Amino acid sequence: MSAADATPNDLESFWLPFTPNRQFKREPRIVSRAKDMHYFKPDGTPVLDATAGLWCSNAGHCREPIVRAIQEQAAELDFAPSFQFAHPKVFELASRVASLAPNDLDHVFFCNSGSEAADTALKMAIAYHRANGEGTRTRLIGRERGYHGVGFGGISVGGMVANRKFYGPLLAGTDHLPHTYNRAEQAFTIGEPEWGAHLADELQRMVDLHDASTIAAVIVEPMAGSTGVLPPPVGYLKRLRELCDKHGILLIFDEVITAFGRLGHATASERFGVTPDIMTFAKGITSGTVPMGGCVVRKHVYDAFQTGPDHVIDLFHGYTYSGHPLAAAAALATLDLYREEGLFERAKKLEPYIAKAAMSLKGHALLQDIRTIGFVAAFDLAPVEGLPGKRGFDAMRVAFHEENMMVRVSGDTIAVSPPLIAEETHLDEIFEKFGRVLDKVS
Ligand code: PMP
Repeated sequence: MSAADATPNDLESFWLPFTPNRQFKREPRIVSRAKDMHYFKPDGTPVLDATAGLWCSNAGHCREPIVRAIQEQAAELDFAPSFQFAHPKVFELASRVASLAPNDLDHVFFCNSGSEAADTALKMAIAYHRANGEGTRTRLIGRERGYHGVGFGGISVGGMVANRKFYGPLLAGTDHLPHTYNRAEQAFTIGEPEWGAHLADELQRMVDLHDASTIAAVIVEPMAGSTGVLPPPVGYLKRLRELCDKHGILLIFDEVITAFGRLGHATASERFGVTPDIMTFAKGITSGTVPMGGCVVRKHVYDAFQTGPDHVIDLFHGYTYSGHPLAAAAALATLDLYREEGLFERAKKLEPYIAKAAMSLKGHALLQDIRTIGFVAAFDLAPVEGLPGKRGFDAMRVAFHEENMMVRVSGDTIAVSPPLIAEETHLDEIFEKFGRVLDKVS
């Protein structure tokens, strides 16, 4: 064990995000190294990564070509401004991302996280309509149980209650479509549920209520992730697209989780055959190694900003670290690795395997639903008479401490989303361990 592996003596000063800090500091969950499919605890115990970190380490951990690219870049060009300057790799990366995104999603704006990508997309949408002479289109429509990060834009269009309730009135002029989950109709579905496409028609009701001339954009995750893994009903996204086209509303897909292989394709847009006007990404672009996010926009969106005098800034927006050289180098090496190892195709090939393994837990008394799609499985824990709520947290703690596995909990849903390099034996191990966790928690 190296010095860097040691458990810290003083846990006090670090305020962990999205974490019950007092409880955590009594019972810390610390990892100090990682390689491929595993994290390692400070004492060297391997921890099987069933969540790709936070849905991001799609290529697995500490992969040599990515590590090398970051090291070389740090020695070559540590930082370059992206306001009125640029460095070569960011152009190369933008072209690569554009070539992975479907149709004419051809222009890429970089930022540093999924939250920034969501807020960037919302601002772009409003500015786009203004550039087109339709400045009254400012309303932003999200969805119940949507998650678009933690910026004020993202939480305003998002539908995660705890993410909204502490922060006052939020952005004015937002509204929300209903979420698409209905346990009675959809429980234990593999892939896209048959029930629910009609819920897209709620957008028409909003147009009738607010008038299309006030609506800038609709933002949805093609598959809601952080609020419990909700795959889109068959035909739902297509219907949203049609209604957006009919009413001149921009459609934004938040692909922060789904882009770069999670659903067995480069993007969820490709998988579901629906092209948004703006697509956000983050996480998998660098396999989680260096923070990076962005928006890919269609030609007509980009072109709308290119019409004024050419010395005028077209989008008055950006971040000091937009297109950071280390992130760009990491992303290029990551995209190379995805391609060389065929990781998106691999995820697609293993999709039925994951689905079957996850569904083998059907019938467990603690489970009221299992959903699977792509390289993702989600388990909804049923409330248990006489036991306090938040069984999800209990399951996560048991998984980490007793089974040495990392899983993701949101409410009472446990999500499994391993790195795309997982072998069948890893998947077997994940669901075996998960079965034991359920037994212990119940
Ligand atoms: N959008 C979606 C769909 C996400 O899943 C997430 C993160 N889980 C975000 C935005 C926010 O990303 P970040 O945490 O990088 O800000």
